[in-house]
Amino acid sequence: MMQTKELQQKILRLKKEKDFCILAHTYQSHEILEIADFTGDSFALSRKATGVSEKNILMCGVRFMAETVKLLSPDKRVVIASGDAGCPMAEQFTRAEVEAWRKEHPEGIVVAYVNTTTDLKRACDYCVTSASAVKIVSRLPDDREILFIPDKNLGSYVAKKLPTKKLVFWNGGCPIHNSITLKELQTAKEQHPEALVLTHPECASEVVSASDFIGSTTEIMDYAAKSEASSFIIGTENNIVTHLQYELPEKQFYPLSKRLICADMRLTSLPDVLSALEGTGGLEIELDGDTLREARVCIDRMIEMG
Ligand code: SF4
Repeated sequence: MMQTKELQQKILRLKKEKDFCILAHTYQSHEILEIADFTGDSFALSRKATGVSEKNILMCGVRFMAETVKLLSPDKRVVIASGDAGCPMAEQFTRAEVEAWRKEHPEGIVVAYVNTTTDLKRACDYCVTSASAVKIVSRLPDDREILFIPDKNLGSYVAKKLPTKKLVFWNGGCPIHNSITLKELQTAKEQHPEALVLTHPECASEVVSASDFIGSTTEIMDYAAKSEASSFIIGTENNIVTHLQYELPEKQFYPLSKRLICADMRLTSLPDVLSALEGTGGLEIELDGDTLREARVCIDRMIEMG
């Protein structure tokens, strides 16, 4: 079996030869981040990809992320390294369900978190990221019902910040972040009383309310880097704990819970990346013209408003 370094060198060589740009979401493992051209949140990666010269993009992440890259760069060939990596939250609701709601609420507005399928985005008015959700919803009218999907927790976080908005939710959310309990937060705090608690708004509202800082993955990483505090309890995917500890060795990082592991995000391995570049693995993302055009509408509005 090839060693990690050997595999990484082979990937870096092949990437150049085959004209690929590699994107890796920050929930990926450290060894994958090391071979990526860009790392970050899903939407930030999609925007980065629009400015690269390579004709091929390889996404190390989950399917909706690769689809978002394709939506923003339809002329590029977009491949996901692990074709089996989906996001359970992104697949919780269908376009047909959203269209049925719209029929019953003709004045209603539908806001979709970027963590949704491309097909569902076709039926939505606005797309948001966890970092832009409050800003974008704040610009929507107070007197119209706003269906915020799929994440009830992120929606509740937005609703608390914007009490004049008529937000409604369905019962969706990230099974990983939503599984974290207040009791776990309290236990982590007892073990590390000096540490600040930084959580993602996909966590349940009682967990978010008991945190010192709430933000997207990138915002959590920036906050930890800039903060004068020296220890932190991290309430998002545990690979972020590893990355932060690597980037900021003078500070201490603790996972809020050992269970904060996204199995889909962990599916991608270096051999997957290699076989995707070799053309024997990975999955090319293909979206037809109607899908590309219709799903782009809510994304373009997000870019305009965000
Ligand atoms: S952590 Fe949650 S939202 Fe992110 S990919 Fe995994 S299941 Fe989806």
